[in-house]
Amino acid sequence: PDATGQHEHPEAHATLKRYFGYGSFRPGQEALIDAILDGRDAFGVMPTGAGKSICYQVPALMLPGLTLVVSPLVSLMADQVFSLKAAGARPAYLNSTLTPGQQNTVLKRASEGWYQIMYVAPERLSSPQFQAFARAAAAPGGVGIPLVAVDEAHCVSQWGQDFRPSYLSIAEFVASLPKRPVLAAFTATATERVRRDIVQMLGLERPAFQVTGFDRPNLYYEVRELGEKDKRAWVARYVREHASESGIIYCATRRAVDELATDLQLELMPEGVRVGRYHGGHTPQERHENQEGFIRDAIPVMVATNAFGMGIDKPNVRYVIHLNVPESIEAYYQEAGRAGRDGDPASCILLWNGNDFRLRRFLIDRGDAAEEALDPEQLERARRNRYRLLGQMEGYCQTTGCLRAYILRYFDDAGALGAEGAGAEAAAGAGTAAPHGCGNCSNCLTEFEAEDVTAAALAIMCFVAARPGRFGKTVIAEALHGANNEKLRKFRLVDAPGYGELAEMPLGRVKDVIDQLAGRGYLEVAQGQYPVIGLGPRAGEALGGAPFGDGSGEGLPDTAPGFTF
Ligand code: ADP
Ligand code: ZN
Repeated sequence: PDATGQHEHPEAHATLKRYFGYGSFRPGQEALIDAILDGRDAFGVMPTGAGKSICYQVPALMLPGLTLVVSPLVSLMADQVFSLKAAGARPAYLNSTLTPGQQNTVLKRASEGWYQIMYVAPERLSSPQFQAFARAAAAPGGVGIPLVAVDEAHCVSQWGQDFRPSYLSIAEFVASLPKRPVLAAFTATATERVRRDIVQMLGLERPAFQVTGFDRPNLYYEVRELGEKDKRAWVARYVREHASESGIIYCATRRAVDELATDLQLELMPEGVRVGRYHGGHTPQERHENQEGFIRDAIPVMVATNAFGMGIDKPNVRYVIHLNVPESIEAYYQEAGRAGRDGDPASCILLWNGNDFRLRRFLIDRGDAAEEALDPEQLERARRNRYRLLGQMEGYCQTTGCLRAYILRYFDDAGALGAEGAGAEAAAGAGTAAPHGCGNCSNCLTEFEAEDVTAAALAIMCFVAARPGRFGKTVIAEALHGANNEKLRKFRLVDAPGYGELAEMPLGRVKDVIDQLAGRGYLEVAQGQYPVIGLGPRAGEALGGAPFGDGSGEGLPDTAPGFTF
């Protein structure tokens, strides 16, 4: 609605009601639909389940001509088309699961104006046959292509996860059409940098932009560091204690899924609890049976790889446990976010240990199929980026600050936490707890024994004062902790004053102290290509104008404040 409470496009409401049966739009949907109907580009960033599809489906059903939806999720296209058809719409999809004959039929019908909306995979846009079809459709006298909607738009960016080279051809495809359609992009996961990429790489023109909240207040977040055996014992106990509830346990590999599912099934047999399992190595029939059993609540607990859950909208999942660390915060947020869709309390628990990170690094170094299309330089960049994403995941495991704030900061959405979260926001990129935290994560509910870290705090500030804005948190922490790696040698930090001064303190704790100092204004994080750390506005209070130029901390005043956290 506009300022006077009027709906700009009342027909959009009627369409929502008629095809989908809903009485009102969710946050963000109407603004994006209005923009599209007004002929303006649109860009929606909404968490999974917030209702992105409606944002392009409603206009597609209203605008004359054929809306194209570009989506990488070939396996979901049939579902979408099925439900749209059931709702009385005229949808189609065009992908490699169709025979060439079927594809021809779809294209022929499309050029006769049969369909309102057509799902295609990004690779399709490079097919000469499809290009010829689209050009004719968009030319005068054709059926018209009023809208191209790009789902999972973050795939266009090398800075996110899931980069897909084929997404880079979308802009070119759109530009090749005789009449430019409205372009609308949607994603669940986009950091600031990825957002910029999306606008630029897709060629969005002054798009209407909507971000809806990423906070899920009903989700309780917990992190536990456990050895391999302890992880399994812990999971078995948890599942037994929650046997009447629905839950998902994610594992990093197919083998881990099979092993854990077998163990759990044996353990829970006496209680009559069925354990489902799901990964890409099972037959389609097995997968279907397990999935159906889970959805019908005949199988309360599902052990699965991340292949499970996409497109499943089960409201009453009460817990999601990760037996292993996912590749990024985005992936974690998405998988954990399958808990508590009904808004009732639910738990997201991440179990981890050093092996998880070794496995992840191995997987990054090995590379994946999508990277085969990259040249060596792109490949190197992609790899570095995946290391960076993993590093943020490591930060999540190690932070003693609020886990919710950590996730929201990752999505630049800390404001959602209100005044307390805003404090945490000031420490962008760091893992600081809001003063009282969210009250619903394991860190905010744990009383960490406050410890006098004055010496460490001063060592960190002196180190930073000698080279402000030069290095990020990890390098600084590693240097003070006395790590001996190539990066530190390259930067000549191994013989810098202060090197190894905090050897006694665990590396994670050094990073945490840095976060805490940033959150309190003693340090400042500058966001650039890499976040780097400089002195904050309050540094003077602590350092009192001491001659810390050489970074040794010699001659600090006795009046320096103490730091206990
Ligand atoms: P996303 O693509 O963002 O993950 P979907 O478009 O699949 O989300 O929508 C998630 C669920 O929310 C679907 O079941 C959808 O029908 C429902 N939904 C979307 N918009 C509305 C609305 N305005 N009112 C009620 N339910 C909605
Ligand atoms: Zn918290």
